Amino acid sequence: MNITEIEDTLSENIGNYLESTFSSIQNMDLDLTTEQIIDINNETYFNIKNHALKSKQAMELLGKNGFAIVDMFFPNCLYSYHLKDSKLEVSGLCDKIEIIDGKYYPISIKHSTPPIKGVWDQDAIDLAINAILIEEEFETEVFVGFIDYTKINERRPVVMDVNIRKALFDIINEVKDIEYNKKVPTVKINDKKCGNCEYKNICLKE
Ligand code: SF4
Repeated sequence: MNITEIEDTLSENIGNYLESTFSSIQNMDLDLTTEQIIDINNETYFNIKNHALKSKQAMELLGKNGFAIVDMFFPNCLYSYHLKDSKLEVSGLCDKIEIIDGKYYPISIKHSTPPIKGVWDQDAIDLAINAILIEEEFETEVFVGFIDYTKINERRPVVMDVNIRKALFDIINEVKDIEYNKKVPTVKINDKKCGNCEYKNICLKE
C-alpha cells in the first residue's frame, strides 16, 4: 500500500463529514469567514497527509499491515466511562479507556501543568482507582495506565504496581474510617484552596 492509497482510505468519508460540520458551524452563527473555513478544510487534509505518512513509516518500521497500524494509532476507545464497585463502595469516571489487543488501558486527561518528571501523586491515585474499577468491570488485569497532559501534549505512564495499589487502598480505608467511625481527618491548610472551598464554613480546620 503506498502513501496515496493510505491517504485515499483515510479521506474516504471526510468530504461528507466536512460538509455536515460546516453546515452545523453556519447554523451556529459563529461569524466564520470563508477564508477561515478554507483554513479548517486545508488543515484537515494536511492532518490526513500527516497520518498517512506516519502510518506508512510505522508499517515499514514495524513490518505490520495497515489493520495492525490502525489499531495502534486509532485504538478502540470508551470515553467518559462510568465505573462502579459496590463492594469497595468506590465509583469513578474514566476519561478514556483504550482497548488494544484485548488489554485495557485507563487514560486520564489533565489540563494542569505536570511535574518535571513523571506524574503528580494525586493524578496517579485517580488513575489507579479507574484501573481497579476496570479490572472488576471487565474481569481483566490492568498493568499500566496513562496521563495525557494536554498542556505539553505528552502522555506519561503510570505502572499499576503493588505500591500504588497499596497507597490507593490506604486512602479508601482512611475515607471509610472518616465516614463510618467519624474519625476527624488531619487537614492541610492551604490559603488559596481554603479560600475557594465550598466547605470552608463548616470545616473543622481551626
Ligand atoms: S476549608 Fe477545609 S475542607 Fe476546604 S480545602 Fe480547606 S481544609 Fe480542606
